[in-house]
Amino acid sequence: MEKIICQGCGAEIQTHDPNAVGYAPSSALNRDEVICQRCFRLKHYNEVQDVDLTNDDFLDMLNQIGEANGIIVKIIDIFDFNGSFIQGLPRFTGNKPILLVGNKVDLLPKSVNPNKVMQWMRKSAKDQGLKVSDVFLVSSKTGQGMKEVAEVMDQMRKDKDVYVVGCTNVGKSTFINHLIHETTGQKEAITTSYFPGTTLGFIDIPLDERSSLYDTPGIINHHQMAHYVSDQDLKVITPKKEIKPRNFQLNPEQTLYFGGLARLDFEKGDKHSFVCYFSNELMIHRTKLEKADELYKDHVGEILVPPNETTLANLPPLKPQSFYIEEGKTDIVFSGLGWVTVPEGGVTVTAYSPEGVRVSLRSSLI
Ligand code: GDP
Repeated sequence: MEKIICQGCGAEIQTHDPNAVGYAPSSALNRDEVICQRCFRLKHYNEVQDVDLTNDDFLDMLNQIGEANGIIVKIIDIFDFNGSFIQGLPRFTGNKPILLVGNKVDLLPKSVNPNKVMQWMRKSAKDQGLKVSDVFLVSSKTGQGMKEVAEVMDQMRKDKDVYVVGCTNVGKSTFINHLIHETTGQKEAITTSYFPGTTLGFIDIPLDERSSLYDTPGIINHHQMAHYVSDQDLKVITPKKEIKPRNFQLNPEQTLYFGGLARLDFEKGDKHSFVCYFSNELMIHRTKLEKADELYKDHVGEILVPPNETTLANLPPLKPQSFYIEEGKTDIVFSGLGWVTVPEGGVTVTAYSPEGVRVSLRSSLI
């Protein structure tokens, strides 16, 4: 195929992968002015749609943002902070102001103190080497906190551009769509304009005559659970409503299964409470450690679901990782699935996740 460039975002047009940069259906190639599906949606429906970026293009994108003059709005999924953090970003951001936006606050239990979460976000960003100018908690779904971000963003950018970055699935599109509709209303169509020098599909949304907001492609974090499950299973593990913590009092040598996607063995310690924060629709099963392997072998995909059949066909085997948790108020995080808070220390656990999906410890978010 002859090389065709999207007249909207400058990406090279391709017709085989709807989730990747530059996708257009074959039928669109006959038009005089070819634009990719993502630009088409923005032009006609005032809506951005996320596309995935390959690892090869990832450094290129960071380089371009590094050289640009403007501010960065980095969106993370508050339900999966580490999983949705872009590694390597600090090296490229220089002295640009960074607004860190924690999205999906509507999922956190109401009892959670937002100030504490924002403090925790600031510290976690610092631990990863990222100095942020301001931190926000929003829900781009309900609109909570969105006005405040928009105001600060406007003050801070001082007529310069805004680059919105994030991993796939953090809600970057929902966030931008909310901003678009709030500032323009539904009717006034937004036109995209060609962003010279990039083939990465930055989408240009004019803010005023001189500056723009750029929607950048979503970065795929391969250690997140989302990349290993079927669309149907993703719906089950993605929380839609406020998460209800589920508390299990466990004796040593008891096991919890989170569907059949992850497992936690309580190896050693006194009788102990384990508070589980997962999608309310994900079943949690308690069993004896000695029976746990057999239960999985006989019932994964039946009692222990998800995974459904489609997921199982590609799911890597569960891999164990042991932790001694010295101090209380520690979270055991299964990237992209949820976490278990251990209120008191002195316990040894083994956490299992599909090989490639990260399990980590952090000081308790809640
Ligand atoms: P993107 O890949 O980063 O562009 O993410 P999307 O905007 O497509 O959103 C990914 C998923 O998260 C979708 O299922 C959204 O409905 C959901 N989502 C986005 N924002 C929020 C939010 O503020 N709260 C909740 N509960 N879900 C959200």
